[in-house]
Amino acid sequence: MKDNYDINNYTYDMDRCIGCKGCVWVDHVYMPGVRYGVKCPSNAYKLFDGYAPMGREKIGKALLEGRIDYTPEYLDVMYMCQLCGACDAGCKRNLDLEPLSVLESLRVKAVKDGKGPMPAHKKVAQNIAEKGNRYGAAEKRSGWITKDTKISDKADMVYFPGCSASYVEKGIAQATGKILNKAGINFMTLGDKDTCCGHPVATSGMLDEAKAIARKNIDILKATGATTLVTSCAECYNTWKVIYPKMLSKNFADMGYQVIHLVEVVSKLVNEGKFTFSKPMNIRAAYHDPCRMARQGEPWVEWEGTRGQWGILTPKKEYRRGTFGVYQQPRDILNKIQGLDLVEMPRMKENAFCCGAGGGVMDAYPDFAMWAATERLTEVQSVAAEAVISACPYCKKVFNEASKANNMNIKAYDITEIILACM
Ligand code: SF4
Ligand code: SF4
Repeated sequence: MKDNYDINNYTYDMDRCIGCKGCVWVDHVYMPGVRYGVKCPSNAYKLFDGYAPMGREKIGKALLEGRIDYTPEYLDVMYMCQLCGACDAGCKRNLDLEPLSVLESLRVKAVKDGKGPMPAHKKVAQNIAEKGNRYGAAEKRSGWITKDTKISDKADMVYFPGCSASYVEKGIAQATGKILNKAGINFMTLGDKDTCCGHPVATSGMLDEAKAIARKNIDILKATGATTLVTSCAECYNTWKVIYPKMLSKNFADMGYQVIHLVEVVSKLVNEGKFTFSKPMNIRAAYHDPCRMARQGEPWVEWEGTRGQWGILTPKKEYRRGTFGVYQQPRDILNKIQGLDLVEMPRMKENAFCCGAGGGVMDAYPDFAMWAATERLTEVQSVAAEAVISACPYCKKVFNEASKANNMNIKAYDITEIILACM
């Protein structure tokens, strides 16, 4: 069986990197100017190309060829990266190389070689192994469920809230439950078997542990008989739709379940006229595309074959270029809310700048995460918006923390809370 996280699958991609920086700069046709022209947070933070995809590829290649060895600096280079995928969508615009798979696989190699992940990642993985959640919280995971939330014992749809909405941003899980109730959609949860999706374990490179979580979660879902899993978290969405099949070397289409984000459920109903908003919300807000369900939201497509002359692949590979991520659905919803003035930031959709929290950066490099969130908030200010709306609890959390720390007076919302407030 092909190992999609084996770095040896990607030496062609590392060799063929031409240093064009299409992975770093916003696509030129969309670039409004230099100020918001860079989309790679780590390159913008460190101002050094070693902390950009092409630098990481060359440094990783040097490690594979034995020209350098592991050092603390090497590990910083590999882990000071949100795995946001902006580089991947950028590189595939011209060259169809796989920088994101390279970055993920170099982390997996670091763990296999006994050098990674960073201590903070080990602590999060320990929390998940011992308590079933990334925070190490001892309370019951179902604490978000209110008396007026109707949860079925048996349904075709399972709501998977994820760690953050279960413990830290409970309002998002509560809003999701109420929205599904109002839409008349029966749903169940995984009950006392509900646990972490394993996203932090997978992104830190702990492949064996992440695979074990994947197999367990998939078995739990299958035992319910449900065929659709709905999330309110971009990371959970990506984990079930991309990381699980990628780790298990299967097409997402063959996994036997569907994954859908709440915004996909609501936008469909809104566009069919079956879900309406009765209350206005008078704010001017920018929508932030969460990396994991936007440019990384396309399902995993398994490929196995050979590369011949001129790099031609046989059979043809179906690339995930980020074009068909969940971009329009949240905008369709927000545009239907009376009084809500939705504005676009210069970096949007495939070119969106990450909130800063992903890829284990919030755990291991919190200062960098806060810097990236602050940088994004200046972009919110640049379009004279007073609020930023996302569809992932991690974005909301880091934006609100950065706004508070810098007295920026920008409020971050999750889209589920906006929908609930306007129902
Ligand atoms: S866009 Fe691709 S080829 Fe160009 S520098 Fe980045 S990784 Fe290398
Ligand atoms: S995944 Fe994001 S942070 Fe990491 S190298 Fe690519 S663009 Fe930069």
